[in-house]
Amino acid sequence: MILDETKILKVSPDLSGDGDIEKLQFAAEIIRKGGLVAFPTETVYGLGANALDEKAVKSIFTAKGRAQDNPLIVHVADSKDIDNYAFAEGNEKADILKSQMPAPLTIILPKRDVIPLTVTAGLDNVALRVPQNIIARKLIELSGLPISAPSANLSGKPSPTKAWHVIADMTGRADVIIDGGDCAVGLESTVVSLCYDVPRLLRPGGFTYERLCEVLGKVDISDAVLEQLKEGQRPESPGMKYKHYAPDVSVVLVKGNAQKVRTFIIEKYKSENCGIICFDEDIDQRSSRILNMGSRNNEDEYAEKMFDALRLTDTVEGIDTVYAVLPETTDGISLAIYNRMLRAAAFNIIEL
Ligand code: AMP
Ligand code: MG
Repeated sequence: MILDETKILKVSPDLSGDGDIEKLQFAAEIIRKGGLVAFPTETVYGLGANALDEKAVKSIFTAKGRAQDNPLIVHVADSKDIDNYAFAEGNEKADILKSQMPAPLTIILPKRDVIPLTVTAGLDNVALRVPQNIIARKLIELSGLPISAPSANLSGKPSPTKAWHVIADMTGRADVIIDGGDCAVGLESTVVSLCYDVPRLLRPGGFTYERLCEVLGKVDISDAVLEQLKEGQRPESPGMKYKHYAPDVSVVLVKGNAQKVRTFIIEKYKSENCGIICFDEDIDQRSSRILNMGSRNNEDEYAEKMFDALRLTDTVEGIDTVYAVLPETTDGISLAIYNRMLRAAAFNIIEL
């Protein structure tokens, strides 16, 4: 930290509030001076530092307790800026994906020398993204710098999608926390590597696999998206090998058709002092032990509420297990829901 204590700055989501721009100017100055600023994006809150300043980047790893070999995503305000930090000219696939930005989409390309190896954890490739959230883009623009930012949570904890999550994890660790309301998508960006012959999905997110295939044609999916890495297997995306997204209570996933799931969780709810994460249709009761994820027909709402629900399970007194119902298929945004929930549950799943 470069300030004595964490400053929390509230801005309106559309930046229409009095003094909002001045607050972002203050935060941008902190970035330029080598400090840490937590800010909202449409995916999750990020913990940002000047991506060109090695010392500032190192302080991100310290603040989060993040493993040194887990690389960071570099955020830029405009897709044209990507070429300043990565080799993308003449890369037709990169051009196609750039035309889709801003989006909850990160692309991996060979890096230029200006990006320190601390950012990429020693890799020759760099991950780049243009966020949709206007607070995020304005902050980057005002700083005049690329901002490297992982999720603004303590490593291992559920990613932050509301300002209170960031305040809980980053007070005393970040110089500034910009409170810009809740994150719309609620889970981290889609990560696609353009460093293979065929583009490769390393992490599913708000920009769906189906949409990627629509714009790019063939796209491979890394095994690690839905499977546990085998002993000694080298992860294509280093972040995949770490415990992730987990609350303190144990998470058990439940998958099956709606009727079987309903019978199972009602029985669990009655017989055990457990938490339940489920759809509207699954249970009629309302209580602090039941965290509702919206309708079965609206997986976007599940994605948006998921990390908050995982955090809330730790605030429900007396429970040590939470049963979490999964969407029935892995289509669309559900692929990302599966990817995160499988890790939150350390791959503990009951198939009914
Ligand atoms: P986070 O910022 O916490 O959402 O994590 C960023 C994710 O992107 C991690 O899972 C990283 O492993 C992945 N990532 C970032 N940079 C690279 C890179 N150069 N090559 C492969 N994966 C990357
Ligand atoms: Mg993260």
